[in-house]
Amino acid sequence: MKYDVIIIGAGPGGIFSAYEFAKKSDLKVAVFEEGGPLEKRHCPIDGKKVKSCINCKTCSIMNGFGGAGAFSDGKYNITNDFGGTLHEYLGREKALELMYYVDSINVSHGGENTTMFSTAGTALKKVCMQNKLTLLEASVRHLGTDINYIVLDNIYNELKDKIEFFFYTPVVRIEKIENGFRVCTEEKDYTCDKCIISVGRSGSHWLQEVCTDLDIPTTRNRVDIGVRVELPAPIFSHITDELYESKIVYRTDKYEDSVRTFCMNPKGIVVNENTNGIITVNGHSFEDESRKTENTNFALLVSKRFSEPFKDSNGYAESIARLSNMLGGGVIIQRFGDLERGRRSTQKRIDEGTVRPTLQATPGDLSLVLPKRILDGIIEMIYALDKIAPGTANEDTLLYGVEVKFYNMGVAVDHNLETKYKGLFVIGDGSGVTHSLSHASASGVFVADRIIEAAEE
Ligand SMILES: Cc1cc2nc3c(=O)[nH]c(=O)nc-3n(C[C@H](O)[C@H](O)[C@H](O)COP(=O)(O)OP(=O)(O)OC[C@H]3O[C@@H](n4cnc5c(N)ncnc54)[C@H](O)[C@@H]3O)c2cc1C
Repeated sequence: MKYDVIIIGAGPGGIFSAYEFAKKSDLKVAVFEEGGPLEKRHCPIDGKKVKSCINCKTCSIMNGFGGAGAFSDGKYNITNDFGGTLHEYLGREKALELMYYVDSINVSHGGENTTMFSTAGTALKKVCMQNKLTLLEASVRHLGTDINYIVLDNIYNELKDKIEFFFYTPVVRIEKIENGFRVCTEEKDYTCDKCIISVGRSGSHWLQEVCTDLDIPTTRNRVDIGVRVELPAPIFSHITDELYESKIVYRTDKYEDSVRTFCMNPKGIVVNENTNGIITVNGHSFEDESRKTENTNFALLVSKRFSEPFKDSNGYAESIARLSNMLGGGVIIQRFGDLERGRRSTQKRIDEGTVRPTLQATPGDLSLVLPKRILDGIIEMIYALDKIAPGTANEDTLLYGVEVKFYNMGVAVDHNLETKYKGLFVIGDGSGVTHSLSHASASGVFVADRIIEAAEE
């Protein structure tokens, strides 16, 4: 079977490429996706019968239509300050233009009643500066997990008659052939003129093999490690009511490391995340009033960049996460006051605290899990945040660990996100260029537009 374009992966990158082809061209396009359609994506962990990962053949949380972002909080950050380095390839203006375009599609497919927040002109910026904190610039559309699902469903219904979707069909190999590529699945081979690889974080190991086979250079040197903080929503409400999501960066006194807030969920819940069988922590929030909680949660992450000869930054973070799984059987929870006193939290101490945890995790001691340098950075940042949001450093503030932000390897691509093979593009988080919904989606639009323009020439 021959296609003009084959897209590998139906996460935001692949979906927005497919959307462009469907809207603006007559090209014959197929999407191969390892996971299932949106409505078939159900994680069996229910906390009762199935308490932990049973290693399904494909993980419903990470794989399938919507990719890793399908059950996310759906925060589309429109900025060049974080979420990827797309602007280094496309230019700052173009990158922002594409992110706003993606936003307009989300809004017109079910997101019309959601809110766009912005840091522009906020008084918080000055307050942060006065306290050695930096507030990063961004506009953020918060879809919420529920609306995000509706938007994806609407987009799929619009695409399904124009684009051929192959679900539960992982691509096992890509071969360079004359005038194009052979895309091999377990059952069949397909050929195409152009191939867009958009396999995200979950496809990272596979993409490494593809790059090795095709001799495409890669790099891997960064990971962010930390904890998720949960506290009563009023402590952060003056920030979250105005901005919803604020990315605040702190440079530690002790090591001059960079610590940042990440993925803020006002009145949200803390959740388990499963990456290759390792349980880490994350957070969600909902637009639906009835699902809101009395707590706000956010991650505090310390960025670690390794220099030569060490190359396995993700392996380093995975072993720290494994340690927490070994000690706690999953995620560990600790009161900030217990951490400061150098003692473990117990269920009794958690129960006696004033903050009701939204995730059932094992009370323990995070200092036995996190390296000192990382823990010192997190503690310093909690005290820095306490100056702009008094109460952050309260004894009962809850810390869940560990939270890890893995970065994909960087794949060598040019300013068109094209590899050294003409017609072979790598986009989204799998490329290492992006690590967010808006950047990944924008990269998909960009490459599709480039291919359509070239086909029309
Ligand atoms: C719990 C969670 C919450 C998040 N919340 C946010 C948020 O609020 N805001 C934000 O900006 N970002 C968030 N993110 C990150 C965001 O989801 C990603 O940045 C984004 O999904 C990347 O899109 P992508 O298309 O590059 O890759 P992905 O979304 O990972 O999609 C890749 C797809 O490729 C498929 N695939 C992999 N290998 C193969 C193969 N060999 N053959 C066929 N298919 C394959 C996978 O099954 C997957 O569906 C969150 C992530 C998680 C896990």
